[in-house]
Amino acid sequence: MTRKILIIEDTPTIARVQKHIAIKVGYDADIADSLAQAKELISKNRYFCAVVDFILPDAPQGEAVPCTIAAEIPTIVMTGNIDLKTRNTVEKYPIIDYITKENKQAYLYLEKQLQRLPRNENVKVLVVDDSVATRRHICNLLKRHKYQILEANDGVEALAMLEHTPDIAVIITDNEMPNMNGDELCSEIRRLYSNDEKAIIGISGSNAAHLSARFLKNGANDYLRRPFNNEEFYCRLSQNVDMLEQITTIRLQANTDYLTKLPNRRYFFEETTKSLKQMQKKQLTPSLAMFDIDHFKSINDSYGHDAGDEVLKGFASCFAKYFKKYFAARLGGEEFVVYFNDVDKTEVLKRLEDFRHFIELNSPELSQQKIQFTLSIGYAHEPVYQIDELLKQADIKLYEAKKTGRNKVSA
Ligand code: GH3
Ligand code: MG
Ligand code: MG
Repeated sequence: MTRKILIIEDTPTIARVQKHIAIKVGYDADIADSLAQAKELISKNRYFCAVVDFILPDAPQGEAVPCTIAAEIPTIVMTGNIDLKTRNTVEKYPIIDYITKENKQAYLYLEKQLQRLPRNENVKVLVVDDSVATRRHICNLLKRHKYQILEANDGVEALAMLEHTPDIAVIITDNEMPNMNGDELCSEIRRLYSNDEKAIIGISGSNAAHLSARFLKNGANDYLRRPFNNEEFYCRLSQNVDMLEQITTIRLQANTDYLTKLPNRRYFFEETTKSLKQMQKKQLTPSLAMFDIDHFKSINDSYGHDAGDEVLKGFASCFAKYFKKYFAARLGGEEFVVYFNDVDKTEVLKRLEDFRHFIELNSPELSQQKIQFTLSIGYAHEPVYQIDELLKQADIKLYEAKKTGRNKVSA
């Protein structure tokens, strides 16, 4: 479902720029050029968020802000200037942010905020504090920016929650707590999880100057002293979530084959090595199938390298769907692989034969030029727990399939 944003802005050029940004980020946008029109739209629609001009012809004192807030629409305020009086008025309201319209940077910042809001809905933040009032305050701030929130009373409870909910991304922790202090919690979290997986923000009401250093030395990414300014809180939190997101993107790129978007050889080796260790412990028999497109070189020779790439992409997408229950990857070139952990050999062989047959009949559908090709498959099912050794066994079978006529499964 597309998220809807309400833009309240009386200058048409600014409204158009804002709408353009919103649509680019993936929203549907409605524009109201007055408070009256905004009220009417709010009565008829549900909005994910709103961008509100502070001064409007029928709302010269910022009256549109309480209107969207009262309708429980997360609100970003855009102001022409930010004198002290305006700032104080704006800060009274539980808004997401305010942005001054003075330069181009403002619109880049707006774009970033609009991107972050839907993203935050999938970010889990754990708030650790023994004070219910402080916890509630922080949770309210988080809720406003649409984060998913979890709460713990102290460090011990926090660690149990991290174990139960492994995808918690950020931990915001107080320092002075019963059972386990914040800095102790930090070092315990860092013993278990790396900086790439989770960000920690320490908070304390203490004036002790050395406390921030202690938090950071124990593995916290950031530190805030209470009482903190909401804007600073949001900036530090967003920066940390952005950093985790960038690391995830980089990691995904490192693990993915650029052409087919399948897991690549390196990632395949890493993951199967872990799985094989478990299989050996449990004394289960792993199995693996290697797939090689027949006479692929002649496809390149006859249709060109780009057409060859297209065949690989079309094949990979079909291959990934067919074996989505298992671990499928591109080994390199026109060689693909599927790793099965505990499976019935007869069942897998039938599945492989069905797939070979499917490709034989339908390969022309996988490329624009309707290029026909077939597939040879080698299958190994052995109590072998080194991935290169298991691959070697499957490769021997694949070679057999090639030597005895191609377009077949050898096991
Ligand atoms: P066989 O039936 O024995 O497997 O013959 P083949 O031609 O499929 O195998 P061979 O190993 O001789 O040739 C594989 C070719 O795949 C050679 C290489 O240029 C081509 N190739 C490897 N990677 C890519 C790629 O990413 N894109 C394209 N278009 N071609 C690739
Ligand atoms: Mg080959
Ligand atoms: Mg080949």
